[in-house]
Amino acid sequence: MKILAPILEDVLKRNPNEPEFHQAVKEVLESLEPVAQKNPKWVEAGIFDRIVEPERQIMFRVPWVDDAGKVHVNRGFRVQFNSAIGPYKGGLRFHPSVNLGIIKFLGFEQILKNSLTGLPIGGGKGGSDFDPKGKSDNEIMRFCQSFMTELCKHIGPDTDVPAGDIGVGGREIGYMYGQYKRIRNEFTGVLTGKGLTYGGSLARTEATGYGMCYFVEAMLKAKGNSFQGKTVVISGSGNVAIYGCEKATQLGGKVVALSDSNGYIYHKEGIDLAAVKRIKEVERKRIQAYLEVHPEAEYHEGCAGIWNIPCDIALPSATQNELNEEAAKTLVKNGCIAVGEGANMPCTPEAVEVFLQNKVLFGPAKAANAGGVATSALEMSQNSMRYSWTFEEVDAKLQSIMANIYKNASEAAKEYGVEDNYVVGANIAGFLKVAETMYAQGII
Ligand code: NDP
Repeated sequence: MKILAPILEDVLKRNPNEPEFHQAVKEVLESLEPVAQKNPKWVEAGIFDRIVEPERQIMFRVPWVDDAGKVHVNRGFRVQFNSAIGPYKGGLRFHPSVNLGIIKFLGFEQILKNSLTGLPIGGGKGGSDFDPKGKSDNEIMRFCQSFMTELCKHIGPDTDVPAGDIGVGGREIGYMYGQYKRIRNEFTGVLTGKGLTYGGSLARTEATGYGMCYFVEAMLKAKGNSFQGKTVVISGSGNVAIYGCEKATQLGGKVVALSDSNGYIYHKEGIDLAAVKRIKEVERKRIQAYLEVHPEAEYHEGCAGIWNIPCDIALPSATQNELNEEAAKTLVKNGCIAVGEGANMPCTPEAVEVFLQNKVLFGPAKAANAGGVATSALEMSQNSMRYSWTFEEVDAKLQSIMANIYKNASEAAKEYGVEDNYVVGANIAGFLKVAETMYAQGII
């Protein structure tokens, strides 16, 4: 890296103690070096310097009272990273590991991911270090109301439209939407992932997992292959993992493992998804409870071991940096032919390198998991029209969006001389539209 090296250096210096943000920026700038060489006017206009600095970062106190009357204080975040091509858009994450650096890495990635969808949405991300695990519904509600009491000052249907992410599903979106409506006295599409009775889109719940499988199927198809008859391992057992499992199975694959942060289940005969949905979505129990229904399956403590299970396709769908170099080598040794990132940045840079060097088809997060945010943008369109499309209509649009993302990422990779490298392809394809727009809008 020549032209962009000083920008990376500056990012490392100005944003200390934010390793995930550094990791994301480094990967993107490395991919964009040939673009910088080809477009000196973008370098002169400071496009690369500006895209790595959020337009706005909001941090706030979120006080709430638990069921025993004790007061707690959490920290809330919203990073409005880039609004060149549309209102800020990106999820809210509630997890104790959340800090400014993690929200910045997610918000930065979101800029290029949202651009790749071809839809008019800018990049943002938010959340809190609140841990929803073990909290009562009333505690979750009080937290969500307190969080939205501050956040509502900074968002709006034409400004910033948050969605869910880790720890934020339909229940949390419902409580936050209720509080927004109460304070602002507006019934607008300010959040996505809403319930179907108040503006939610059919197929939004399924979209990220389904979209990931559509992308992986497109990579396989280009090589004359498919999900049919393949053994699949998926990490996580949340929204992305569950609907990834559903679509992989519908496409003819056999999913044999799922996990949570405590451990993983291995069911050689194939995962019983109805049981998983009941355990995770209705009973909100740990994945270990699967053995109460299927004692013939295995449960192993610790989630890293899941990558030792032999499989053809691996879909890491839990969290960042959950699949390292050693795990990648094991997957390659066991004959894995394709990896699709359901989670954001689940593979470490060293793991990605192992996959690329061994010609494993690798779908990076900003391409493979873009189906969720794309369908969120479709929810925004339906809200603006005050109209709802059918499940089949939304799913058809999702399929065509994922096919386009694949096409654009693979064409960009080819054009820049790195055929089949979808990491570089997705970064470049996503960046071009944002850069052109930032250039057109002047130095702002
Ligand atoms: P959920 O909260 O529904 O599920 C998260 C799953 O990952 C759970 O099984 C959870 O286990 C596990 N997990 C979370 N943190 C860790 C950790 N530190 N170590 C091990 N396992 C962990 O979240 P989603 O399914 O929505 O999100 C999963 C990933 O997909 C995230 O990276 C998110 O950013 C990304 N994503 C989500 C989209 C969406 O539409 N939902 C869109 C695009 C990307 P446990 O219950 O034990 O915490």
